[in-house]
Amino acid sequence: MAKLYFKYGSMGSSKTAQALITKYNYEENGMRVWLIKPASDSRDGEVLIKSRVGLEATAEVVAQDCDIRESFAQQKNVDVIIVDECQFLSVEQIDQLREIVDWKNVPVLCFGLRTDFLSTLFPGSRRLFEVADTITEIKAICDCGAKATVNARLDADGRVVTQGAQLLLGGNDRYLAMCHKCWIRSIREGRKVK
Ligand SMILES: [Zn+2]
Repeated sequence: MAKLYFKYGSMGSSKTAQALITKYNYEENGMRVWLIKPASDSRDGEVLIKSRVGLEATAEVVAQDCDIRESFAQQKNVDVIIVDECQFLSVEQIDQLREIVDWKNVPVLCFGLRTDFLSTLFPGSRRLFEVADTITEIKAICDCGAKATVNARLDADGRVVTQGAQLLLGGNDRYLAMCHKCWIRSIREGRKVK
């Protein structure tokens, strides 16, 4: 029986690298992988996914209003679906993936963030916690040595910000994974962390 997997971690926990390594391992065993990534808007197409350790692969972009069941039906002989940045999928799209797992018997592996820069669950991640069969944490370490659980967003000066939209486009270098205690301390002291 196929399963729905949620593999979550903070920024810098090598989620994308692990997604691409997983893809490689499946393909090495002769299986066909459908690699997808949510769009930040209504556009679809293809995008090159790069991990910081140098791995890369082309993914199909899933638009915000896309029914993943319909896109999946147009694919041929898919053995497994891998999702990068799954936190940006909608609740409906997670449910569509759940249907594919149940009724098409295709495993779906979702890699993404648990929470946003205010330590609040993304809607897609919340839905995955509710309906995934297997949930795994990919760990990252805070500068202090504790496990990093918060994706702190930084301003241009390197100070932690606590206001703004959940999605900051093109701002991947504006984040730093921290433990909760260091995050709160950085906010209170208003000091530069990067
Ligand atoms: Zn810390």
